[in-house]
Amino acid sequence: MLTGIGVAGVAGLTVGSAAPAAASTPTTPGAALASLLAGNARFRSGHSRHPHQGVADVHRLAAGQHPFAIVLGCADSRVSPEVLFDQGLGDIFDNRVAGNIVDEVVTGSIEYAVAEFAPPVLVVLGHERCGAVAATVETIESGGTPPGSIGALVEALRPAIEPVLHQPGDVVENGVRANIRYQVARLLAGSAIVRDAVAARTLRVVGARYDLDTAAVTLL
Ligand SMILES: [Zn+2]
Repeated sequence: MLTGIGVAGVAGLTVGSAAPAAASTPTTPGAALASLLAGNARFRSGHSRHPHQGVADVHRLAAGQHPFAIVLGCADSRVSPEVLFDQGLGDIFDNRVAGNIVDEVVTGSIEYAVAEFAPPVLVVLGHERCGAVAATVETIESGGTPPGSIGALVEALRPAIEPVLHQPGDVVENGVRANIRYQVARLLAGSAIVRDAVAARTLRVVGARYDLDTAAVTLL
């Protein structure tokens, strides 16, 4: 059983101790996804409720968390999961890195959350006009070398983006969509813990795109 792995105990990461879910916390993949999308609908229509963001929530959650969703999103300052899904503290186990890249460390972070909290949904969230995707396109097309460690980002994104470089349409938009699908596939290929949860139907993994213009999240 995934919840019996006891990752927190083994690793001594008591900060991650699971707490019982509140009665309103979604417990199925369908309900969890519906909750995220309903929150996004509130946000983009200007009717955010800003749930679970008060001092009382801090105190309620101090003893433990029970997030109902994992998000792997881009570090872009405009793509904050709690804001665009209208959720709050304790709701989403966030993993953010430019280009929403799956690597071993990110996979470990996600596996920890799956094993410890058994959240029913995991969203790989890319977004329109992603700078990391654009930088990768530019590097491939120019043949240049990015400064510092930015090259590591580019090399991680290159296999996702190269196959769609010459497809019709906007190259960055094509790259954003291809990268979301690529990272979902990479996560599933690289994680037996995630695959097992999906096979057991306790976890649904979806790719999604955030639109910077409309604030809408669309499942791919
Ligand atoms: Zn981005």
